Amino acid sequence: MNKKTIEDIELYGKRVLVRVDFNVPIKSGVITDDNRIVQALPTIRYVIAEKGKAILFSHLGRVETAEDKAKSSLLPVAKRLEELLGQPVKFIPVTRGEVLESAIAGMKNGEVIMFENTRFEDIEGKKESKNNPELGLYWASLGDVFVNDAFGTAHRAHASNSGISTHLPAVAGFLMEKELRYIGGTVDNPLRPFVAILGGAKVSDKIGVIENLLAKADKILIGGGMAYTFMKALGHNIGTSICEEDKIDLAKSLLEKAKGKIILPVDLVVTKEFANDTPFRTTTYGDIHDDEMGLDVGPKTIALFKKELKGAKTVVWNGPLGVFEFANFAKGTRAICEILADMKDARTIIGGGDSAAAAIQMGFSDKFTHISTGGGASLEYLEGKALPGVESLDDAEPCNCGCGCNN
Ligand code: AMP
Repeated sequence: MNKKTIEDIELYGKRVLVRVDFNVPIKSGVITDDNRIVQALPTIRYVIAEKGKAILFSHLGRVETAEDKAKSSLLPVAKRLEELLGQPVKFIPVTRGEVLESAIAGMKNGEVIMFENTRFEDIEGKKESKNNPELGLYWASLGDVFVNDAFGTAHRAHASNSGISTHLPAVAGFLMEKELRYIGGTVDNPLRPFVAILGGAKVSDKIGVIENLLAKADKILIGGGMAYTFMKALGHNIGTSICEEDKIDLAKSLLEKAKGKIILPVDLVVTKEFANDTPFRTTTYGDIHDDEMGLDVGPKTIALFKKELKGAKTVVWNGPLGVFEFANFAKGTRAICEILADMKDARTIIGGGDSAAAAIQMGFSDKFTHISTGGGASLEYLEGKALPGVESLDDAEPCNCGCGCNN
């Protein structure tokens, strides 16, 4: 880890600006998955224990109109956080101005406040998400130090991350550190064998990841909708399954480059409509009818993937193996969860987004080494890209041993 962390700076009596990622799903005012709040607790508790003044802020969804604003308040999140922390979290319903400034001025050491959704600043000219320099400077003026714990937005330069870092001592929180160590560190220095599992809807979303992992992983198991573009590239009929015609040549060249590293499904579950309650059957690639689409991998594929995973020391998984939102087509994704949960000797890392949602929803939230809280960010990190929200943090001191390891 070549960036400073929260443990490298003094927090006592300081106004500690903490960018958290509380972009949680909320339906009718109720939080349906509080994982991101739970994962931010170690950093918040540390600021409290060190007697800093914790000023928390986050974005929540996209806010472009007054209508979006009306349904995007972080108030329910502040309430949930208060329950989880077991101490008051004072909610400030604005993103700037007198009310916020005087609330901060009145804070005592160890207190927590949280201000309103940073994207409220997007209504007039996307100030937050276009990294408006005046806004970053203003938010920086509210604190003494900046802690970025929001891995989920680290792949974008926003006023609430890079915009603040330029003006204050800026360090990673514990969650950010964990994400960087697990996702970056694991991929760059894997214990071998290193097997990657990639699924999800489209090849186009994951070209960079496949290319980066081809150089680093020992095997890449491909399932989900993206497998069909590869199967078509191999000359199979795929019926009406999801396929990106303009990526068939790319799929061919990736297969050539892979020299046997890419393992594709051998059977699948097909149906005639994109729905849960239509009749379905399991078949092989040579026997898909023109009016059928594949929505899940079949049992032979699960057995093949299990065999490929046997003995692996590092597994990184991104993207469900089927349409897991439909119970009839969730078996492949569930089977991968079960297989990985049993691999006690391996580091098992789940990239964020839908595979993380599926694993949590299926009851496997504590069965892996790490489930990332970042969707787009974990994908870009898996692609080997630098993340602006991380790059803008202060560099760690060089190591004592002189080798440049930052330890
Ligand atoms: P991604 O965000 O790229 O990881 O894609 C996740 C989405 O891929 C989920 O909503 C799945 O329903 C979808 N998906 C997985 N397998 C298939 C498939 N065989 N056909 C269509 N969509 C799929």
